[in-house]
Amino acid sequence: MGLFTRRKTVSVDADILVIGGGMAGCGATYEARYWGRDLKVICVEKAHIDRSGAVAQGLYAINTYMGMQWDENQPEDHVRYARNDVMGLMREDLAYDIARHVDSSVHKFEEWGLPMMRDPETGRYQREGKWQIMIHGESYKPIVAEAARKAATKIYNRIMVTHLLMDKTKPKRVAGAVGFNVRTGDYYVFRAKAVIICAGGASHIYKPRAAGEGMGRTWYAPWSSASCYALPILVGAKMMQMENRIVLTRFKDGYGPVGAYFLHLKTYTENGYGDEYESKWYDHTKEIVGDYVDHLPVPTCLRNHAILEEIKAGRGPIRMVTKEAFQDPHKETIGWENFLGMTIGQAVVWASQNIDPKHTNPELTTSEPYVMGSHATCSGAWASGPEDCAPSDYQWGYNRMMTVDGLFGAGDTVGGAAHKFSSGSFAEGRIAAKAAVNYVNDLGKDQPQVREAEYEELKKTVFQPLENYEVGRNEIVAGTVSPSYLLPLHGLQRLEQIMDEYVGGIGSNYTTNEPLLTRGLELLGMLKEDLDHLGAEDLHQLQRAWELQHRVVASESVTHHTMFRKETRWPGYYYRGDHPKLDDTDWHCFTLSRYDRESGEWNLEKAPVHHIID
Ligand SMILES: Cc1cc2nc3c(=O)[nH]c(=O)nc-3n(C[C@H](O)[C@H](O)[C@H](O)COP(=O)(O)OP(=O)(O)OC[C@H]3O[C@@H](n4cnc5c(N)ncnc54)[C@H](O)[C@@H]3O)c2cc1C
Repeated sequence: MGLFTRRKTVSVDADILVIGGGMAGCGATYEARYWGRDLKVICVEKAHIDRSGAVAQGLYAINTYMGMQWDENQPEDHVRYARNDVMGLMREDLAYDIARHVDSSVHKFEEWGLPMMRDPETGRYQREGKWQIMIHGESYKPIVAEAARKAATKIYNRIMVTHLLMDKTKPKRVAGAVGFNVRTGDYYVFRAKAVIICAGGASHIYKPRAAGEGMGRTWYAPWSSASCYALPILVGAKMMQMENRIVLTRFKDGYGPVGAYFLHLKTYTENGYGDEYESKWYDHTKEIVGDYVDHLPVPTCLRNHAILEEIKAGRGPIRMVTKEAFQDPHKETIGWENFLGMTIGQAVVWASQNIDPKHTNPELTTSEPYVMGSHATCSGAWASGPEDCAPSDYQWGYNRMMTVDGLFGAGDTVGGAAHKFSSGSFAEGRIAAKAAVNYVNDLGKDQPQVREAEYEELKKTVFQPLENYEVGRNEIVAGTVSPSYLLPLHGLQRLEQIMDEYVGGIGSNYTTNEPLLTRGLELLGMLKEDLDHLGAEDLHQLQRAWELQHRVVASESVTHHTMFRKETRWPGYYYRGDHPKLDDTDWHCFTLSRYDRESGEWNLEKAPVHHIID
């Protein structure tokens, strides 16, 4: 008798199932209740929603706020700004939709108790930059989670969703999801009429700079394990722009954020010899990207590019000049508080390395790449746009519905709209939930049904790593290497190395080409074969095993997309050595992919970029 047969199965029926209770998931849960008073709204979270997701330890700024009540910015301005930052390739309908709704979400946060900083003279929210407002945000996530908790029929914490379930009669319609409780090991079958995926982005698909014990020290949350991409990919949803991975310039070793330093404290960078270097790379960058280098603000990737080139030229390290700003006691306080509200680790790193920014200019570094849809890049699912402003080929159903019926997404999950950040992700969750409620109401008698045989089979698959371990462990007396199983950590390190060396990570100076990508895909294929032999010692390792499975699927998608786009669109994020320049003639387009789970094939295509804002 296998281990899985002894496990309890808990069945839950829902009208709306929200997967992931981070910023987008809390927004979706809150809004689903508003429009669906009598609906059963369930939110499933692998951690605990009070402190889960990328915002878990708090934030110091809300990065997307228009300030329309004071006529500070209009949604069109934000679309222009974000479009420029992603070198022209953005779903402007989705971005506009978020921008026009984001302010009201921020007002809700304040109403729910989030302390906002205000300008003492104007009484308006204290601006950090054109789009950012400053908050006392240590409790940002618990405050937002409370609203979701009160709205949900039930929140299921500590349940990792591993697979989606499809409808018995309509194979292109979602019908629910399965997963397991990471504490009790119970198996959960969720049957739902609509599913909204809000499961964050992807870290740890590339080898991080910090290895060994420091491995958890990455910029993006280490628990962002690519479920938001793997779940839809595996049921055939189209993905977009998965090659648009992000690389961050951050304070070295602690990944402390630099936004408040640049924008509010007006600090600047210099090379290891104390010289300004950005302007020296102007001609070189213009050669690669043409006029994009003249756009203001300079796109994030191009600022990375200057840093990378200066370091390659042997004039590193790049430092942030803090010594001047920190002479002002007010700015000094802001500088430290910025970390205490969201990245305490950076303050600790500086203390341990004898760095007082008042007397020493701290080093910056560029991170390993991450995949996400809510920050300065916009990888993710290809989603239907808003009825009133999406061009017809961007609209095939309900707002934020993917190319799978009944499957919606928000936040990092949905591609095409960069610069959502925390507030925009929450707002997009609300947008998706409103549409999902309409979808459920329109279903009438045509209700989705799940196949018992399918979820019973998945039960075996989900718990198989426990069985692999229990059987294989007897073959060795000590150590972690067994002839019969692969531990999740071993698999993760193998994945990170493949992505690093073949798909443009830090080890290859973010550079790749067709032969490297081709070999990378072969190696990913071999890794996938071995994943059937993952061994999990306990439930914690079982979670790691499924996180790895999801990361591998997302990595394969990133590799295919990187291969398909034959240009270097975002120098500073990655380089195609065989196509070193930006090519607007052939590649001013989106790249879309669809994975066919029957054949295991990936199909890639181009889609036009429609500019709806001048
Ligand atoms: C270091 C850092 C600094 C940032 N700074 C700022 C800032 O200053 N200002 C700002 O506005 N924004 C900032 N952001 C961006 C902001 O945090 C994100 O845009 C936002 O959290 C994205 O929302 P999301 O819901 O898509 O993902 P998340 O908020 O990360 O939520 C995803 C949720 O899904 C859960 N989950 C994942 N997989 C599964 C699964 N398989 N089953 C069940 N649950 C699952 C996760 O546990 C998590 O709770 C920052 C992000 C990071 C990483």
